[in-house]
Amino acid sequence: MYWRVFLFVACLLAGALAGWFAAFKAGLGHDLTGLLAGALVAAVVWFVVDAIRGAKLLGWLRIGDTSEPAVSSGLWGEISDRARRLLKSRERLTQASDERLQNFLAALQASPNGVVLLDSQMRIEWFNQTASTHFGFEALRDREQHFGNLVRDPGFAAYFAAHDFERDVIMPGRADSATRPVRLAVRLHPYSDGKMLLLSRDITAVEQAEAMRRDFVANVSHEIRTPLTVLAGFVETLQTLSLDEADRQRYLDLMAQQSARMQTLVSDLLTLSRLEGSPPVGSTEWVSAHLLMQQVAQEVQALTTHVVQGSGQPHSIRFEEIGSCDIGGAHSELLSAMANLAGNAVRYTPPGGEIVVRWRQLPDGRGEFSVQDTGPGIAAEHIPRLTERFYRVDSSRSRDTGGTGLGLAIVKHVAQRHGAELKIESTPGKGSRFSLVFPPGRIKAIDPVS
Ligand code: ADP
Repeated sequence: MYWRVFLFVACLLAGALAGWFAAFKAGLGHDLTGLLAGALVAAVVWFVVDAIRGAKLLGWLRIGDTSEPAVSSGLWGEISDRARRLLKSRERLTQASDERLQNFLAALQASPNGVVLLDSQMRIEWFNQTASTHFGFEALRDREQHFGNLVRDPGFAAYFAAHDFERDVIMPGRADSATRPVRLAVRLHPYSDGKMLLLSRDITAVEQAEAMRRDFVANVSHEIRTPLTVLAGFVETLQTLSLDEADRQRYLDLMAQQSARMQTLVSDLLTLSRLEGSPPVGSTEWVSAHLLMQQVAQEVQALTTHVVQGSGQPHSIRFEEIGSCDIGGAHSELLSAMANLAGNAVRYTPPGGEIVVRWRQLPDGRGEFSVQDTGPGIAAEHIPRLTERFYRVDSSRSRDTGGTGLGLAIVKHVAQRHGAELKIESTPGKGSRFSLVFPPGRIKAIDPVS
């Protein structure tokens, strides 16, 4: 600043001197007019130059270009340099906070939950991709829109009106339909100045799992209660009535049947839970398809003896093997699945019917175990549901034949664990064909010579 005053004074003095000298040269002697005029001209030039430098600085500030200072020297030069440094540090700060904001938004974008930021008027400020899927929002169209105009669920409207944000509200998602329900749990979290953070979670799978768990518990209870009630009735009869030996024996036989039914049910339930809880089966153990067929035949034999005793007329059962090979998987699981399919054919096919149990290696390297019967067949609408636990086409027939309703669920699990496909083809009135098709990686052909 002192330097600036000094320069100004020096400029005035130089102007005055030049004016005085010019006046002297013009023959005006030592007249003070030349001196004053010189100083005045110097002051005007000073101010004009100064104003030009100031204007240059102002123009530079308006553009905000921080690459080079507008003026390189003097007071304006220093102002311009300081302003430039200030702008640069501001720029750096803005850049850093921009980066932080972008990181923050990227984190919200990666959230598995829907996130919507709402202003104090419930207008949408920002939302992530998940929220866009949940509510059907579109980035360009729906920003600044009132949330209530876009999501018109009465449950949500009541939740918002009640201002009870301590709980979730459950509502259908945008893609909800009768065949594919989508359920969302939505909660509002108020934050600064009446703004709201809305979080949404897709709880469709959780709700379905919960419904399945409830159904399962209800089904198991029902399945166990029926034989228990029968057993309790017989026990009471034996306790209260004095029966002759033949009646007593008949009641005891019926009781044994009911307890066997409960045992089968519990054993099937344990098998299912073991299958669900254990890791997938590798191909380190190889089981001979021939051996499996023999064991299935033994089980079928035992079952037919039982069925024949009841009806008196045997089935015609044929076992066929085309191509000898090993199957990669767990012996007990494979036998259980195959015996279940063969057992169903025996139980559901009326006396005298025909059953063919076949193992064959397919030309493409896959292996197929199939059971074909001439039983009642299954209507097409039941087929997709047959592998659900406790699903039965005809409950009384299933129970009469000792079924638990879990057999095909077990078969499906074994198939999945072995990478195999369970195929069900059936024509009502004609019969059914159940097959397990194993991928080539699970089949090892056996050299007949070795
Ligand atoms: P269940 O113990 O009742 O036999 P499954 O899971 O083995 O239970 O079978 C489910 C339902 O599929 C059975 O209740 C029956 O209605 C039907 N089903 C299974 N196998 C056959 C078959 N070979 N012929 C006709 N219906 C069958």
